[in-house]
Amino acid sequence: MLYNVMNKIKEKAGAFLNLLKSSKNAVVFTGAGISTESGIPDYRSPGIGLWENMDQTVVSLNGFLDHPDRYYNFALKLHSVRSSAKPNYAHFMLSQFESEGLINGIITQNVDGLHYEAGSVNVYELHGSLRQVICLDCGLVQPINGVMERVGRGENPPLCENCNGVLKPNAVFFGENLPSIPWEKALQLTNSSDLFISIGSSLRVSPANTLPNVVIRNKARLIIINLMNTPYDSKASLVIRQKIAEFAKIVLDLHS
Ligand code: ZN
Repeated sequence: MLYNVMNKIKEKAGAFLNLLKSSKNAVVFTGAGISTESGIPDYRSPGIGLWENMDQTVVSLNGFLDHPDRYYNFALKLHSVRSSAKPNYAHFMLSQFESEGLINGIITQNVDGLHYEAGSVNVYELHGSLRQVICLDCGLVQPINGVMERVGRGENPPLCENCNGVLKPNAVFFGENLPSIPWEKALQLTNSSDLFISIGSSLRVSPANTLPNVVIRNKARLIIINLMNTPYDSKASLVIRQKIAEFAKIVLDLHS
């Protein structure tokens, strides 16, 4: 029984590699599901509770501007979890594929920065990044780690050392628009691709649900790797319902 299950997964891994290697312009799209095995909770998953139990105004733009100290108190609790999270096999698989020229780039909804940490270069972060803060007055961008250390020492809210402006994490908060440049690049990359690989996204939330429609309209191929079903499964050349890091390990073994 187990043997059969394993063989099925290996078959899927083989089919995945075949589609990837026969493509000319492959692009990858990732959502929260790629990072859950790195220990970063998927806030939308039922039962996690974090998002459900918290006051969402804490991470809304207006809530932040009114009470940046309240946000940083909340962020301090999560920061140790986030900063100890490491890329998993799936992140490393993608950086290896990029260095081998098998994929052109990664479009991600994640703000955890784990694609960069795994060595990927061409990454478009649609929702910005929690690895950095930006000064809302002078625009200075700096790593968040040093800033969170200052918060830990009681400097709350932390202020810009240049101009005393408010420092905001460089990720998109509720009530904020998506940054336009990564989104335009994502559309370009998707439009020029003949293979679109969606990993760890339910593909139900805007703007993630826009990209598969571009793929289908262009008659490009679609691969979906996700534990739960998505509205685009019936249009996909291959659907893989596996834990993502586990599947990536099998793919890497087969690829080497
Ligand atoms: Zn400043």
